[in-house]
Amino acid sequence: MPKDAQATIDLNRIREMLKQKKGRMKLCLRACAGCTLCAESCFLFRSHDGDPRYMPSYKVLKTLGTLYRKRGKVSEAQLEQMKELVWRNCVLCGRCYCPFDIDIPNMIAFTRSILRSQGICGVYPHSMGATEEDYRQCAAEIQGEIESDSSESE
Ligand code: SF4
Ligand code: SF4
Repeated sequence: MPKDAQATIDLNRIREMLKQKKGRMKLCLRACAGCTLCAESCFLFRSHDGDPRYMPSYKVLKTLGTLYRKRGKVSEAQLEQMKELVWRNCVLCGRCYCPFDIDIPNMIAFTRSILRSQGICGVYPHSMGATEEDYRQCAAEIQGEIESDSSESE
């Protein structure tokens, strides 16, 4: 019997998560005018010769947009493709600029949560060619900065 690709996906969980933020997320998805102004604010888009797969709006429309459009009913292969877009093609630096106040990083973070709920996750910041060890070192440095900031403000 062929393997049922849908069998490993918890569709109810995906739908439940989509429903929790439906109002805000769908509003943002509809509000996107496709103007591409956000593209220039993404260093990954600029450093990949304008490859559209690195465009902030593309990353959310092809992931979260697809999840809402299909009401969560996507294949595992599609979720794996989404993983590439929201982890490899985005480091969640929060620098995307949208004149319509569409919060792209928030939408990408939400998409990551949905993927994590299905046991799918990427390694940040994989897109910059960093190793897992680089990541751990970077995380330790950030943690150190946070601790130092909080002790200074006490
Ligand atoms: S996210 Fe904003 S800036 Fe980017 S294409 Fe959509 S409307 Fe334009
Ligand atoms: S949060 Fe992601 S999409 Fe936005 S500028 Fe940073 S890398 Fe690009």
